[in-house]
Amino acid sequence: MTDLPLAGQQPAISETTPGTLAAWLQARGEPAYRVEQVLVGVHRPDALGFDDLTDLPGPLRAELATAFRFSTIGASHVLEADNGRTAKAVHELADGQRIESVLMRTPARGASAARTTICISSQAGCAVNCPFCATGQAGFGRQLTPGEIVDQVLHWHRAPWQALGESWRPGAPTGHYNIVFMGMGEPLNNRERVFDAVRLLNDPQRLGIGARHITVSTSGVVPGMEAMIDELPQVNLAISLHAAEDALRDELVPINRKWPVREVIGAGRRFAERTGRRVSLEYVMIDGVNDSLGLGERLADVARGWLSHVNLIPLNPTPGSRWSGTPVERVRAFAEVLRANGVPTTIRDTRGREIEAACGQLHAQLAGRDLRTLEGAGRPAGST
Ligand code: SAH
Ligand code: SF4
Repeated sequence: MTDLPLAGQQPAISETTPGTLAAWLQARGEPAYRVEQVLVGVHRPDALGFDDLTDLPGPLRAELATAFRFSTIGASHVLEADNGRTAKAVHELADGQRIESVLMRTPARGASAARTTICISSQAGCAVNCPFCATGQAGFGRQLTPGEIVDQVLHWHRAPWQALGESWRPGAPTGHYNIVFMGMGEPLNNRERVFDAVRLLNDPQRLGIGARHITVSTSGVVPGMEAMIDELPQVNLAISLHAAEDALRDELVPINRKWPVREVIGAGRRFAERTGRRVSLEYVMIDGVNDSLGLGERLADVARGWLSHVNLIPLNPTPGSRWSGTPVERVRAFAEVLRANGVPTTIRDTRGREIEAACGQLHAQLAGRDLRTLEGAGRPAGST
């Protein structure tokens, strides 16, 4: 689908096109219906390898395992918190690069139904270099392929997690779940592969996840936001704003020097107008840095009058960080400034703090250690 950076690796089944698979099967004299059988089989939540596709003849399963990778993820180290409701994985890829993904299950409460969120990475590392973010501090590794992006979702979809439900069928009309590109990396700096990954996730022959359940979070890559309007208008857009004034945002989100607040907000507004979809403005609250009530007024100025919504997230300090999160009562006061200006505002909790769930932190902690020999739940994500 896209050129693989890993020369010599077998193609990942999660990104193999039906055409390629059909040609491969035909060359072995297999009937045409096998394409669907293979694709449906590898996306079943209880399948952990080609051997589990028991409706296929044994020799064909063995050949598939030689020709394709069941997963691009070699080993995963999983940590659980909140009684298993939050789980975070560091995945090791074929060339030793490591990435993170997170599963969050929110039980039903009052009128709101139970919800599952899977947070995935788009790059190994990130070049944007936001000073409060562990991924940014670690620097850029490489782009992820569409298969490597999709395989993170498949990791949590498959046993034992079965995050989308053990009887998941593509296009399931019910189900409250979200896939968010809020792990490592800037998705719109890997735009084509991320868009390909979204289309693979949408594919009714694969997971069949509706675009409206997918959110791309960006630090403000304006051309990528414009491309979303044209190519993926049903996918949700979140903008990591963190400051509404250029001087401060230049420091907190350095890509602001290329695309300043006015342009980023302009692209967000166009997205909202053209798609009719509400855009989230993410605002990490850093004690004494971006949380004064005056800066709340500036944020209200740019968030007001269009289909936006502000999410306030207290900073989860990275190791060695000179900053800390804004205390909750000041977060509430900041939220009141926004609401008084008519801006819908939510205060978000930082789930998984106890397992270092913020962007890139667990990865930093496990650097240099062998995922296969760590104590606890080192779970291979499926093997061939
Ligand atoms: N690169 C994209 C998506 C990945 S980061 C982006 O920046 O939007 C996902 C979210 O986590 C962003 O809103 C980011 O600002 C936030 N984040 C990063 N480090 C954090 C920290 N230490 N505490 C709280 N949120 C953090
Ligand atoms: Fe990259 Fe997002 Fe982290 Fe900034 S916050 S360094 S854009 S991953």
